[in-house]
Amino acid sequence: MKQFIPYEDLGKVNAPFIEDINNAIQTVVCKGWYILGSQVESFENEFAEYLGVRHCIGVANGLDAMILSLKALDLEPESEILVPSNTYIATILAVVQAGLKPVLIEPNIETYNIDPLLIEQSITNKTRAILLVHLYGNPCNMEPILNIANKNNLYVLEDCAQSHGALFNHQHTGTFGMAGCYSFYPTKNLGALGDAGAIVTNDDDFARKLRYLRNYGSLVKYQNDFIGYNSRLDEIQAAILRAKLKHINVVLDHKKAIAKIYTDNLGSKFIVPIVSDNTQHAFHIFILRYMERDKLRAFLLQNGINTDVHYPTPPHKQIAYKFILQGNYPISELIHQTVISLPCSLALDIDQATYICEILNSFSTEN
Ligand SMILES: *Cc1c(COP(=O)(O)O)cnc(C)c1O
Repeated sequence: MKQFIPYEDLGKVNAPFIEDINNAIQTVVCKGWYILGSQVESFENEFAEYLGVRHCIGVANGLDAMILSLKALDLEPESEILVPSNTYIATILAVVQAGLKPVLIEPNIETYNIDPLLIEQSITNKTRAILLVHLYGNPCNMEPILNIANKNNLYVLEDCAQSHGALFNHQHTGTFGMAGCYSFYPTKNLGALGDAGAIVTNDDDFARKLRYLRNYGSLVKYQNDFIGYNSRLDEIQAAILRAKLKHINVVLDHKKAIAKIYTDNLGSKFIVPIVSDNTQHAFHIFILRYMERDKLRAFLLQNGINTDVHYPTPPHKQIAYKFILQGNYPISELIHQTVISLPCSLALDIDQATYICEILNSFSTEN
């Protein structure tokens, strides 16, 4: 029988936790303290403990987590920051908004992450940092990247907006370099009910600087030591995140089970993600690659299966970046032209994942 399967359904994702979420909201409303209070502080401690890192600083969203991290490094204007050419626009926008220069590095066609073999040839005497992305929840190959960074005296920053729960050599993403930048946008593996973000770090001075920067450059009320920003995590969102962090393994395990069904059952005409032995993929997004992607999407839609594309246009082809991002990035373009994201969420039943495999395997280009 034909089914209707949405790509995502956030009401259904949050339904199992509704009681905890309601209690969290009620606690904050009744207490009457809504900005930078005990909920934010507790969430920061609990998230840092979950990741195994010294400090967590709650901020307004994932983009700000990256902008503030770059600002806190105090780099000379026009310093060059290496970023993957295959990423969501926020990674590159953060570099531009921080007054720095993004330099794009092509991804590896199998991991979709920044290719460590292509990093060194782009390092100049102005390069100061690598801002890498654990795209779709797949951890970057950290060993060569950290070696290159050490050898060339570069900071490592990690965009972890898609990698909550991802591990490289049993270590959480976000804890390898100077800063791990997290987003808790509602669709992420740990999602708030609005905007929210955080920076994690093991560096005491960097953490302290970020606590100033997120709050008008001030730690003591009406005393401003730095030129700061207003980028704070709300008490209500922090309370909801605390409630949901307790159940993060329910989400991660479910996504992993769906990914296994896709990987085990799909025919070889579809290119499925490759997960290397020393990593734990967090499957924020489950992508396939298929040359005739648009035909495949239309066929799935005819069968009631809604999909998405992450992402349809590469950053260097975006109108806003016409004068900033120059050059050719054919690997990134090939990925953008051929990826399709299958439903992979707590809202999707295991039976539905099996059904999606059946429909996909029945697809032939004559359709
Ligand atoms: C979601 C996302 C962000 C931005 O997070 P916001 O909280 O929406 O600012 C940044 N980078 C990547 C890779 C993302 O997927």
